[in-house]
Amino acid sequence: MERPPVDFDTISEPLEVHVSTGLAKIGAALKARAWKGAGPARLTPTQGQALTLLRGEPQGLRLSTLARSLAITPATASDAVASLTAKGFVVRGVEAANRRAAAFALTPEGAALADEVATWPDFLARATGTLDASEQTVLYRALVKMIRALQEAGDIPVQRMCVSCRYFRPNVRPDDPQRPHVCAFVGAPFGDRHLRLDCREQEQASAAERDALWRNFAGSQVDQSHPTQGEPK
Ligand code: SF4
Repeated sequence: MERPPVDFDTISEPLEVHVSTGLAKIGAALKARAWKGAGPARLTPTQGQALTLLRGEPQGLRLSTLARSLAITPATASDAVASLTAKGFVVRGVEAANRRAAAFALTPEGAALADEVATWPDFLARATGTLDASEQTVLYRALVKMIRALQEAGDIPVQRMCVSCRYFRPNVRPDDPQRPHVCAFVGAPFGDRHLRLDCREQEQASAAERDALWRNFAGSQVDQSHPTQGEPK
C-alpha cells in the first residue's frame, strides 16, 4: 500500500528550536574543550574565563567588575580569584584610579597561561573557517543580533559592543556597502565584518540611543560581498 507523503513541517520542531539546539551543542563543545585545555594548571572553566578577562586588563579588575563581566556571583568570582591567587597566577593590588580599592591582575605566569587559555576556541575558528566569506558575515551579524538581545533582556552582562556604543554611526555611508558605518571615536568607516563585541574604547549609549542605533543598523542589508577580514576585538 502506498504511504501518504510526509510533510516535514508537521514532524519537525520549529526552526528556532533547531538553532537553539545547535548553539547548545557548540556551547557544550566549548565547555568540554575548556576542561581539556585546563591541563596541568587544573583550571575550572570559570577560572579560565577569569584569566582571559584579566588578560585584556593590565591595570587589573575589581572583584565586582570581574563577577559582573562573567555573569557570576561575587562569591563564585571570589572563589575563582582565590584559587588563581593561590596558584600564583593572579596577584592582588590596588586600583590605579582609586588607591583604596583592591584590584586583581595577572602575574607573569598568569599572563603566560592566559595566552594559552585564549587559544582554546581555536577549534571553533577552524570549524568557522569551513564557512565561506558571505556565510561568515551572515552568521556574525546574526550572532551580534542575538548577543544584543541577550544583553537587552539582562540575560548576559553588558557587552562592549559597537551596536550599543555612543560612537557608532550605523549606515551613514550608504554609497559604500562594504563600509557603511563610521566609528566616531577613531573617525573611520567600517563594515559589518569589523563590528566589535569587546572594544576597550566603547562607551555605552543610553537605552533610547541604543534603540535608535539598532533601528538604523538592523534596517540595513548584509554586506556579503567582501571576504572576512580582521577579527573583532
Ligand atoms: S570600534 Fe569601539 S569605539 Fe568605535 S564604535 Fe565600535 S565599540 Fe565604539
